[in-house]
Amino acid sequence: MALKLALVGLGKIARDQHLPAIEATPGARLAAIASRNAGLDGLPSYATIEDLLAAEPEIDAVTLCTPPEGRFGQAMAALGAGKHVMLEKPPGATLAEVEALRRAAEAAGLTVFATWHSREAAAVAPARRWLAEREVRSARIIWREDVRQWHPGQAWIWEPGGLGVFDPGINALSIATAILPGPLAAIRSALYFPANRATPIAAEVDMVMAGGIPVTMELDWRQTGPQSWDILVETDRGSLRLSKGGAELAIDGGAPVAEPDEEYRRLYARFVELIAAGRSDVDLSPLMLVADAFMIGRRHEVEAFHDAAEDRS
Ligand code: NAP
Repeated sequence: MALKLALVGLGKIARDQHLPAIEATPGARLAAIASRNAGLDGLPSYATIEDLLAAEPEIDAVTLCTPPEGRFGQAMAALGAGKHVMLEKPPGATLAEVEALRRAAEAAGLTVFATWHSREAAAVAPARRWLAEREVRSARIIWREDVRQWHPGQAWIWEPGGLGVFDPGINALSIATAILPGPLAAIRSALYFPANRATPIAAEVDMVMAGGIPVTMELDWRQTGPQSWDILVETDRGSLRLSKGGAELAIDGGAPVAEPDEEYRRLYARFVELIAAGRSDVDLSPLMLVADAFMIGRRHEVEAFHDAAEDRS
C-alpha cells in the first residue's frame, strides 16, 4: 500500500519540487498539508503539525519543508506520533538537534532521512566515480548567486539559524563531501555580514582534505549577471568541472555533459526504500563544516542589505 505522506511548510521548495516529486513516486501519495498560511484544494490542510497529527492518525510519514529554525520541534512531534520523517536541507539549525532526532528515531524504530538534494544531481555520481580512480591535488568551490533572484522575501535566511549564504553554500558542501575521497576540515573562514543582518551575505572558507590537500570555497550572494555553482578539482590525471550545482560534468576543459534533473524524485524513492528497510540516513558532514566555518570565522561588516520583496511580504 502506498505510503501516506504529509507535507509541512508549503513554500517555494515544497511547490517547485516536492509536490511534483511526490506525484511521480509510485510508493507514496500526499494525504495532508500543514502550513500556517497556505493549503491545497482537495487535501486536508491544517495550520500546524500538531493539528495535523491529531486529526490524521493514518499518516505514515511527514516531510518538513519549513525553514531550519523551528524544524526540531516539528520533527520531534512527528516522531512522537510514530511518523517517519524526511528533512529538507539543512537538516536542522544545530548539530545537536539533528543528532537528538537521529537517536529519537532509532529508539522508536522509525526512519529519519536528512536529505541533501544536490547529491542527487545527475553529474555527482559520475564525478565521484571519476575521482575515485585519481589522486586529488586541489579543489575549488565557487558558489555565486543573486539572493534577490533566488530568495525573494525570505526573511528567515537572514535570522539566526537561517545560515545566510551558507543556505546555498551547504549544497556545495554536500556535493564536495560526497565526491572527494577524504574527509574535509575547515581551517580558516572569513564571514561578511551586512550591517543590518544576523547571517553572512558572503564567505570564504579554506579547508584541507586528508593529506593536506587544499579545498577552498567562495560564496557570494551579491552576484548579478551569470550565476556560478561550480566545483573544480585538479588531479594527478586531469581536471574536473562540476557546474550548475552538480547537473553538468566536464573533464579536462571538454564540453559539459548534462542529464535531466531528477533530484527530488530520487529523494522520495530513497525515502520509500529507507522506510521499507527500517533504516535512517543522517549524514551531518556538510552541516559540521558550516558550523565549523561559523566557529572559526572572522567577522567582517559590509554594506546593509535591503530586499524590496521582503518589505512587501
Ligand atoms: P520558503 O519559501 O520561505 O517556504 C518555507 C515555508 O515554511 C513558508 O512558506 C511557511 O509557510 C513555512 N514556515 C513555517 N515556519 C516558518 C517561519 N518561521 N518562517 C518562514 N516560513 C515558515 O522557504 P523555501 O525556499 O521553500 O525553503 C525551505 C527549506 O527548503 C529550507 O531549509 C531551504 O534551505 C530548503 N531548500 C530551498 C530551496 C529553494 O530553492 N528555495 C532549494 C532546496 C532546499 P506558512 O507561512 O504557510 O507556514
